[in-house]
Amino acid sequence: MSYDVIIVGGGHNGLVAACYLAKSGLKTLVLEAREIVGGGAVTEEIRPGFRCSTLDHVVGPFSSQILADLNLARHGLEMINPEVRVLALAPDGRHLCIYNDPGRTVSEIEKFSANDAKSYPGFVNSFSRIGGVLAPLLSMTPPSIDQPTKTDLWHLGKVGLAFRGLGKKDEYRLLRWAPMAVADLVSEWFETELLRATVAARGIHGAFAGPWSAGTSLGLLWQAALDGSAIGSASYPKGGAGGLAQALANAATAAGAEIRTSARVAQISGAYSDKPKVVLEGGEEIDSRAIVSNADPRMTFLNLVDPIDLEPGFLLKMRNYRAPGIVAKINLALDGLPSFRGVEDAAKLSGRIHIGPEIDYLERAFDASKYGEFSTDPYLDINIPSLGDPSLAPAGKHVMSIHVQFAPYKLNQGDWTTRREEFASNVIDKLEVYAPNLRELIVASQVITPLDLEQKHGLSGGHIHHGEQTLDQFFTFRPLIGWAQYRTPLKRLYLCGAGTHPGGGLTGLPGANAAREITRDFKERKV
Ligand SMILES: Cc1cc2nc3c(=O)[nH]c(=O)nc-3n(C[C@H](O)[C@H](O)[C@H](O)COP(=O)(O)OP(=O)(O)OC[C@H]3O[C@@H](n4cnc5c(N)ncnc54)[C@H](O)[C@@H]3O)c2cc1C
Repeated sequence: MSYDVIIVGGGHNGLVAACYLAKSGLKTLVLEAREIVGGGAVTEEIRPGFRCSTLDHVVGPFSSQILADLNLARHGLEMINPEVRVLALAPDGRHLCIYNDPGRTVSEIEKFSANDAKSYPGFVNSFSRIGGVLAPLLSMTPPSIDQPTKTDLWHLGKVGLAFRGLGKKDEYRLLRWAPMAVADLVSEWFETELLRATVAARGIHGAFAGPWSAGTSLGLLWQAALDGSAIGSASYPKGGAGGLAQALANAATAAGAEIRTSARVAQISGAYSDKPKVVLEGGEEIDSRAIVSNADPRMTFLNLVDPIDLEPGFLLKMRNYRAPGIVAKINLALDGLPSFRGVEDAAKLSGRIHIGPEIDYLERAFDASKYGEFSTDPYLDINIPSLGDPSLAPAGKHVMSIHVQFAPYKLNQGDWTTRREEFASNVIDKLEVYAPNLRELIVASQVITPLDLEQKHGLSGGHIHHGEQTLDQFFTFRPLIGWAQYRTPLKRLYLCGAGTHPGGGLTGLPGANAAREITRDFKERKV
């Protein structure tokens, strides 16, 4: 059986691409290595009756345009949108709650600082305006640097015009902020350490960087482009992250795409010629007119493609593409809701919970990873999804999803097999400073190290975003300069995953952008 397009990987971007390609009439096959589709967006049982988002716990946010195009609500997607974006905890029992509603947030900030409460609306409005100008870049194919087309110039021109419309103050801010260390940016707005650290955390989320690293403000600008706010969203699908993947798989199948799970691609061959094919583990060969890789760039070019098919110069650049994983994940099944010191209203726990009370705390957490150690005082981003979706755990019980940073892929002392328990135990110890009865409530746990992310989830180097999202690996440089348009040096091989613009997170945008370029190439008979 021959296909028009084979997509290697059924992550959410692969599924989004499959939906658009199948809708445009192309015979599309998705091959997913794992027994379930979704990649980062999967929900699995950690103990009978307790289901948790294995990796991602909140959603991107997912592009509203794609939601509408694919009618995902009709295919079963239901989003839970907590009023609380993030609850930041301090070790002395104080807390600061950031709501979607800036007015409610100002009242919370007033408990800490009248100055910060006054600054907050200006901060929110400035990021919202700047995010609005940047937003169109997300769904744009980055222009070619050498030969920009008329369409490239037209799109960039429109962004330029919107930039001029910002007014001098925000124009200057945007130009200054992008290369700045996020610690400097937040200190220009706020004096409360807990607020500074909570806002700054978005700049280092998933990154091999501390708040004092140059360029970390970019994360805030990008977050603002996604949903108008510099502070990460707390929305998640009913049924956990897998609810999104299931809806996408339903939409792809309804559009005519075929999906095969437990189908690991061992090799992509002949993609430089008119007869590309994939070879599955086990030897089965499948032909198609084009192959689209949802696997990360290093996995694609350094593992799946025969190096003989690639120029040495390209291979060298790909080997230098940076993807040092520093995130681990711990999921807990709990016998009840933990009591967080000083938090009387359980509704405040319904968004993300942030642990990393000071800028210096976050920087020290990063320091450890520079020297191949996991942080003994890690930055934690936590979600208790069973509060908004009781179907995830038995009545009265809960699941807790903990994103742990920093946990370097390569340890200096020992390895992840021998140090897994010590690592997990340290995280629980640190969490008990805030929730003293946590340990006694744990009935089951799942610990996912960066090595597991590589070995089980196919993420090279264990990097959660398929590669660092720094200025040199961004937009027209993602994954490599000259190859940011979803095409590759092999004329029938494309990329559609988080290693392409606009990068990681459950947004669906790389998949949709890639599908647009691929469909165009089919229409123009380039493939
Ligand atoms: C621990 C963790 C926490 C995260 N938290 C969040 C969060 O809360 N919110 C958020 O928005 N983002 C989060 N992210 C990031 C997010 O998961 C990724 O950016 C997103 O999953 C990228 O989607 P993708 O479809 O491009 O790739 P992936 O989700 O990585 O999917 C790629 C797919 O390809 C498959 N594959 C790889 N190689 C092969 C092969 N040879 N043959 C067949 N199939 C193959 C993989 O099995 C996988 O299913 C998190 C990631 C991790 C790892």
